[in-house]
Amino acid sequence: MKLDNQDAAIKLPMSLADSFDRRFTYLRLSITEACNFRCTYCLPDGSECNSGEGEISLAEIKTLVAAFAALGTQKIRITGGEPSMRRDLCDIISLCKSTPGINTVGLTTNGFRLEKDVKQWRAAGLDSLNLSLDSLNPSMFQLITGSKRLSSILRGLDIAQSLDFKSLKINTVLLRNQNASELNDFLTFIKTRKITLRFIELMRTGDNQKFFAEQHVSGNSIQQNLLANGWTQRLRSAQAGPAKEFVHSDYSGSIGLIMPYAKHFCDDCNRLRVSSKGQLFLCLFADQHQNLRTHLQSENPQAAIEFLQASIIQKTAGHNLAEQMTGSTRHLAMIGG
Ligand code: SAM
Ligand code: SF4
Repeated sequence: MKLDNQDAAIKLPMSLADSFDRRFTYLRLSITEACNFRCTYCLPDGSECNSGEGEISLAEIKTLVAAFAALGTQKIRITGGEPSMRRDLCDIISLCKSTPGINTVGLTTNGFRLEKDVKQWRAAGLDSLNLSLDSLNPSMFQLITGSKRLSSILRGLDIAQSLDFKSLKINTVLLRNQNASELNDFLTFIKTRKITLRFIELMRTGDNQKFFAEQHVSGNSIQQNLLANGWTQRLRSAQAGPAKEFVHSDYSGSIGLIMPYAKHFCDDCNRLRVSSKGQLFLCLFADQHQNLRTHLQSENPQAAIEFLQASIIQKTAGHNLAEQMTGSTRHLAMIGG
């Protein structure tokens, strides 16, 4: 966004810090709640909302991203629902990428449109790609996601690998009675592929309580398994995000482990989230959300900047997931994980 003279007071970058002195430089922006998959742990009955009605517009996103960038956000991850269901995804990517202060634009996708569109996303300025891939076996993949597209998604992944992304990751949620027995297949998959495979521990949400009780696999047990099989943990900087990283000399790829139930998981939180309806989520599992959208109606980001500065002090220390609190989050398709 080009700032005119009357906006000269908005200097890049101010910073956004909460009462626990955590600084927020990473925005997860959901652009739709709609999804065409029905993952067993997320939307087992499919998406309630496939109309796209009420989604934040490109003009609102422009003001939003300008406000976050003015407050020191450097990285944006576009998510959903399934973000590739939005026809203006490439415009959103290039808008984020061309905003002064934003140096990394990422996308999390179920891969449905990967094979067809990944080159366009890269050309629009996408730097990093996270592909959710919960099985390498077509029938298990279909059981978990409701989709028959595994082979297209794997072809899309091959194309993505040729496009020199800054970062290319696979996200996998291991589920006790569904794909947990595929752990070794996943490891073999990255033996010759230079990809980070991240196991995300299943999180309890408002809608998946029974499923969680049946299917949760503790991140700790995955960690023990990796260590017993010659993987070693690599030390990372505090800014590197919440994943623990593991490497093995026989493997080109690496493993990331996201363990939201671990103690101190929230201590280095550096991210804020905005839903596709323009609500600010101070935490993935907050009880209440702030209506940022009313402050996005002008091209001038000043009102949104002031709103964010006033809101951030309400951010709590942690998500309390281990105490079985899930806030008002029914499923992660509401906000994008
Ligand atoms: N539809 C896109 C996708 O699946 O990649 C983006 C949105 S999805 C909500 C983002 C990530 O959240 C996916 O990697 C998905 O596996 C993960 N996720 C969804 N529900 C989850 C849960 N209850 N626990 C852990 N991860 C979850
Ligand atoms: Fe859709 Fe992603 Fe949720 Fe699966 S995890 S149902 S692809 S939003």
